[in-house]
Amino acid sequence: MSWENNVRKVVPYTPGEQPKVKDIVKLNTNENPYPPSPRVAEALKSLDVNRMRLYPDPKIEDLVHAIATVYGRKDEEVFVGIGSDDVLAMLFMTFFNSNKPILFPDITYSFYDVWAEMLRIPYVTQPLDENFHIRVQDYKKENGGIVFPNPNAPTGSVLAQEAIEEIVKANPDSIVIVDEAYVDFGAESALPLIDKYDNVIVTQTFSKSRSMAGLRVGYAFAAPKTIKYLNDVKYSFNSYTMNYPGIVLGTAEVYDTENFRKNCAKIMDTRAKAAVRFREMGFTLEDSFSNFLFVTHEKVPAKKIFDYLRENHIFVRWFNKPRIDRYLRVTIGTDEEMEKLFAALTKLLETEA
Ligand code: PMP
Repeated sequence: MSWENNVRKVVPYTPGEQPKVKDIVKLNTNENPYPPSPRVAEALKSLDVNRMRLYPDPKIEDLVHAIATVYGRKDEEVFVGIGSDDVLAMLFMTFFNSNKPILFPDITYSFYDVWAEMLRIPYVTQPLDENFHIRVQDYKKENGGIVFPNPNAPTGSVLAQEAIEEIVKANPDSIVIVDEAYVDFGAESALPLIDKYDNVIVTQTFSKSRSMAGLRVGYAFAAPKTIKYLNDVKYSFNSYTMNYPGIVLGTAEVYDTENFRKNCAKIMDTRAKAAVRFREMGFTLEDSFSNFLFVTHEKVPAKKIFDYLRENHIFVRWFNKPRIDRYLRVTIGTDEEMEKLFAALTKLLETEA
């Protein structure tokens, strides 16, 4: 016997690399290339060091209220956590407690199976179709809960709102989580569904469209009853999740909808141009509704491209996983960053293709 027999053994989630070297083109973790609202810089100056003696507001009321106001919801319909990873982990813990398996796509955000394993939640993955789209009928079988991103990651494709509602409606005995980490880049939000169904939860984040991955703010919308259950678990786990600077800076950001809409528009414009360039170079890709493109080259293996780009200080994401190991996920950067990427790809393809 050893104490090690009693360790909760997990295979941890592998986040994308955060390289220390300067002068790289970083297109590997779906961060936003543009800064957050100038109001955040102002709010930073207003922070009171002496305020740090005190615990922060456990209810995160200012930020909850700001999000509720901006999205036209009630405060009781909003939950805030430390990035949507924290929100999602809390949701798994709160709502996925049946003996039946939870369902999520086989190709999706690679944290879902990690949380399920970690929390000992049974799960069965549902294969995407050959074009990497969710099949609604797969989510009409017995289950202990459902989670999928919309747009999906790492594919960038969307499920129509009618299809989402069909899934929610078909599962009144389960919680359905729609992970909208990338929704602001051209997809439609399932948020209105919370008025009709208390079993649907919509999560979003400041990490992508709002340029604040480093601050760690994520949130969920659901019916007040559903949010209440979630808060009960949160307060039983860790009541002071978000620190005082996080609350102040997040609140400053959320009210500036103009800045973030402008940044999203720029990213969508760069994405459209990048998609054309990729196709001209012999890549295949589906339309993306997120801040990344999921591309595969007809001749050159993805790993080879990944390695070559990395040597040239351009970081993209390659997943060594079944079905998707021929693909690269490329975050949309600034136009200048994309130019550097395409220049490097042109060089490589001259020798390879
Ligand atoms: N959901 C999806 C689909 C994601 O890709 C990510 C980003 N890794 C997250 C949630 C979590 O993002 P964050 O914790 O930064 O809000």
